[in-house]
Amino acid sequence: MKNKIQVTKSSMPPVEEYIDEIKDIWDSRWLTNMGEKHKQLEIELLRYLNVPNITLFANGHLALECAIAAFNLSGEVITTPFTFVSTTHAIVRNGLEPIFCDINPNDYTIDTDKLEGLITEKTSTIIPVHVYGNICDVREIEKIAKKYDLKVIYDAAHTFGVTVKGEGVGNFGDASMFSFHATKVFHTIEGGAITYKDEGLYKKLDYLKNFGITGPESVEYIGGNAKMNEFQAAMGICNLRHVDKEIAKRKAVVDRYIDRLSNIKGIRLSKIQDGVKSNYAYFPVVFDGYKYSRDEVFEKLKFENIYARKYFYPLTNNFECYKGRFDVAKTPIAQYIAERVLTLPLYADLKLDDVDRICDIVLR
Ligand SMILES: *Cc1c(COP(=O)(O)O)cnc(C)c1O
Repeated sequence: MKNKIQVTKSSMPPVEEYIDEIKDIWDSRWLTNMGEKHKQLEIELLRYLNVPNITLFANGHLALECAIAAFNLSGEVITTPFTFVSTTHAIVRNGLEPIFCDINPNDYTIDTDKLEGLITEKTSTIIPVHVYGNICDVREIEKIAKKYDLKVIYDAAHTFGVTVKGEGVGNFGDASMFSFHATKVFHTIEGGAITYKDEGLYKKLDYLKNFGITGPESVEYIGGNAKMNEFQAAMGICNLRHVDKEIAKRKAVVDRYIDRLSNIKGIRLSKIQDGVKSNYAYFPVVFDGYKYSRDEVFEKLKFENIYARKYFYPLTNNFECYKGRFDVAKTPIAQYIAERVLTLPLYADLKLDDVDRICDIVLR
């Protein structure tokens, strides 16, 4: 049997580099609660992401939950179902009602032509997703949000380091959530961050991620526990030194995929949008009118020990926990794409020979 290829593989710094970084933690005996590593990573990420404010979290999901809580939102939130289930859960777990807008068939982000029609007097927020690193129509979303006085929080989990015409993607909307999960382009093992415009939120987010504790004898907010610890931050500091190199290696993989799979009848690839500097996080392929269905290609790859992923399938509004609550028929394009999309293996150390092997199987 040929070697097993997973859909992703975490980037790791040289082990000595990490050991060196965590030695300080033995000296200080300060393991969590906004220590030196946490402070350093926050400063370095501010610079790397080119944003005015950032707060680190234990993971991306809790970051999004805390951001929603920080804005004191109520009522309805317009979002899309073509995402990781975290986006929808974060809304529901805050006691808000997700209203699902369909995606556009070109880049799978929220269809801004359908957005305005979903706004009611209960709408407080839009939570769009820069899915696969495709950037939402941020200008149009901003226009609509202004007109109806809505908050905009982006799920930017897929877009670490992405820029649009030189601008860091974390600058759009009121806030953006980044995930630093082990499978993401940049990671802190588990981790995440919120970037945001209003510097007044800095303290509030810090309180919310630490039980709402505002002083030795005072708790002003009903917060949770979502702090990034020092070992996570140390991993982030190490990974950040290598991330540009890792992204360049991902680009080589993506270029080879594009070389091999472009202009094939029934295979649709995502195009990198104009002005966007990509991080090559995912390689989604839509099988639409191809000689084999998505599920057949998935099974054939699996038979050869290659694990692609039906990402995103099913839609979040179709999961068991939401059964009967939402009408999937209202987001037909999301449903159509979810049934046809496959993300192919992609990580920095994926060998070009292996990319060829994957493409051979897909094309055979
Ligand atoms: C990874 C991811 C999340 C959740 O981030 P975690 O760090 O795993 O909690 C949320 N939304 C999307 C789109 C993601 O891909």
